[in-house]
Amino acid sequence: MSQFANLINGEWLQGASVNKNLNPSDLSDVIGEYAQADAAQTEIAIAAAHAAFPAWSVGSIQARADALDKIGTEILARREELGALLSREEGKTLPEGIGEATRAGNIFKFFAAEALRIRGDKLASVRPGMDVEITREPLGVIGIIAPWNFPLAIPAWKIAPALAYGNTVVFKPAELVPGSGWAIAEIISRSGIPAGVFNLVMGRGSVVGQRFIDDRRVAGISFTGSVATGNHVAQGAIARMAKFQLEMGGKNPMVVLNDADLDVAVTAAVQGAFFSTGQRCTASSRLIVEKGIYPRFIEAAREQLAKVRVGHALQKETHIGPVVDQSQLDQDMSYVAIGRDEGAKLVSGGERISRETDGFFMAPALFADAHNDMRISREEIFGPVAAVIPADNYEHALQLANDTEFGLSSGICTTSLKYATHFKRHAQAGMVMVNTATAGVDYHVPFGGRKGSSYGAREQGTYAAEFYTTVKTSYTQA
Ligand code: NAD
Repeated sequence: MSQFANLINGEWLQGASVNKNLNPSDLSDVIGEYAQADAAQTEIAIAAAHAAFPAWSVGSIQARADALDKIGTEILARREELGALLSREEGKTLPEGIGEATRAGNIFKFFAAEALRIRGDKLASVRPGMDVEITREPLGVIGIIAPWNFPLAIPAWKIAPALAYGNTVVFKPAELVPGSGWAIAEIISRSGIPAGVFNLVMGRGSVVGQRFIDDRRVAGISFTGSVATGNHVAQGAIARMAKFQLEMGGKNPMVVLNDADLDVAVTAAVQGAFFSTGQRCTASSRLIVEKGIYPRFIEAAREQLAKVRVGHALQKETHIGPVVDQSQLDQDMSYVAIGRDEGAKLVSGGERISRETDGFFMAPALFADAHNDMRISREEIFGPVAAVIPADNYEHALQLANDTEFGLSSGICTTSLKYATHFKRHAQAGMVMVNTATAGVDYHVPFGGRKGSSYGAREQGTYAAEFYTTVKTSYTQA
């Protein structure tokens, strides 16, 4: 069995204990043994990142760009292998895994170029003879806390800008997916980045992540995960005035109007709700359908779901892989029971499925005749369970779409320019999708939400600079 170590100050170090990751498509397949850091080892990593910061932050931006470009190039060259590892570890299908690896590689390449474009500004002063300059500087050590559902892309969109803008990094992957995090770290370790600038600290959130929150040497915390953990991170960061950004849950609505192209709407709904096993913060988990198209929509969705094959993530014929682990599966199945008890009508799926390998397989559950005040319509399930909610007209659909504590992604299927334009203006979400699923985003544009979904600066693209830099205003009297 391979053993994978933490990367601390340029050295590969075994941890205080070991964590094994399992293939959720085949529980007999143990992927590897990964070092788990304790608090003391995490402190060594933070100290290394802190010590490496002064030189790295004022060092050559060409060296930063070259290193990030090299990392991106290698990820892209190895996208099939990395995508397969991701699929084996997390359970998304192979095309999804390769797609995510490709995205991660492209993100590193984007920020390689960004390292050479760190922007400032110069404003005229109200005082004659005074020069006013606005510059962006790195923060210091960034603590990166990642979730399990995008184990290559999310670390990439945090690590790449952190390094590009001159910060140093301590990175903690989620416990379920250390393999993908380790693979990124191994590629970074050979990129020419000096020891201590990037550190991998695998381990438990309550141990490693907690040190990131508590240690004053960590200047910024970039977190993606659940609302409960995000709140915990926020409280700790505020207590010591650290900068933080949070990307958390979603309960993303997709509105389908009477004038929608039925095929477009059903494909967007099925893919948005159930692909990646519904384990996406942007999953289309609330389908708000106008009454005139409602019966046809339900029928067509059932037909499309009947053709969907759930199975081993690495098999070619699979459309939807397994749920990530037993506790997530238990949670998904419990929401199927909750939906039934609440009076929604289960029109497809919702049962455990057995396959030739022992994995966490479940038929995607589609509930019809749901109300927006049911728990299946309000709480993030984070699995293959979606609710269809009937709407009287466009205004009613918009009101239902916005009636949620979340605000990540919001979609509409319509052929009307008038409704599409109105929806883009009035949807209370960070991302709005017209005639496409609420999930599925570009790698070079801002990503994030509002309300209970996100806090702080956007991820990705040039907007990432808002989090990973701090603004300095300098005055010079000529
Ligand atoms: P989680 O909150 O359980 O864990 C996220 C990370 O936080 C993990 O690395 C975990 O180890 C760490 N953690 C746990 N306890 C901690 C503590 N006390 N201190 C510091 N860190 C701690 O979330 P998850 O189950 O890994 O991910 C699923 C959630 O992530 C869903 O709610 C999903 O919507 C959300 N998500 C959001 C986005 C987005 O961009 N908005 C993207 C992907 C996933």
